Amino acid sequence: MISIRGLSKSFNGTAVLDGIDLDIAPGERVVIIGPSGTGKSTLLRCLNFLDQPDAGRITIGDVTLDAARASRAEILALRRRSAFVFQNYALFANKTAQENIMEALVTVQGRSKAEAAARALEVLAETGLADKAGSYPASLSGGQQQRVGIGRAMAIGSELMLFDEPTSALDPEWVGEVLDLMRRVAERKQTMLIVTHEMQFAREIADRVIFMHGGKVVEEGAPEQIFGAPKDERLQRFLSRLS
Ligand code: ATP
Ligand code: MG
Repeated sequence: MISIRGLSKSFNGTAVLDGIDLDIAPGERVVIIGPSGTGKSTLLRCLNFLDQPDAGRITIGDVTLDAARASRAEILALRRRSAFVFQNYALFANKTAQENIMEALVTVQGRSKAEAAARALEVLAETGLADKAGSYPASLSGGQQQRVGIGRAMAIGSELMLFDEPTSALDPEWVGEVLDLMRRVAERKQTMLIVTHEMQFAREIADRVIFMHGGKVVEEGAPEQIFGAPKDERLQRFLSRLS
């Protein structure tokens, strides 16, 4: 169970997250849409303190913390409950695909190198990259790099996977393979919170779609409702600009 209450964040006196409330059930796939600059990335980043929230309560699984007074130990515990897939992959350039996946298993989870290496190979096979274990990011296509990025998040086996526009930095030819891998992740009942501009994909994969505007959740519902019968005028305008 994931629960967010009153999550707020300002940058330079401007509210970017303005009291976000959101619950996500185990195995649920929630997609966030909304205009640029509306706080989507900041919301994801606040959930694991890549950005420090100003206020709010966050529960992920068995960890609950009060953002305003969280201890270092609580923040580390919360971080371990989620895994982030970045728009720009954020792979270590000087590590192979296998080493990239091993990194958190060794440093965060304290697994032995041998165990982490074996787990990384398993995940590489699942992502269709078994033959790329020894390759460095620079020699992989954008799509392959992002599949390593997703593999790294899969390997951790965390409560929640966070995806921040995982395909928007990709050449169009690589988008399909990354979305396919995300569909496979979804089939495992992995809880996923996904920011994307791929509306067709959102419609297909989401149990629930959240429309954010100006740091707030303005409308949420099943994809059929959000895309087929949007109520809020700002959502209607956002969707009409896309088509
Ligand atoms: P996009 O669709 O373009 O990715 P977004 O909804 O993800 O947009 P955010 O990246 O969360 O938007 O940014 C929301 C607002 O917060 C923007 O106005 C942005 O400039 C501002 N912001 C984000 N990070 C910082 C930061 N580290 N310092 C100052 N302002 C920031
Ligand atoms: Mg963003």
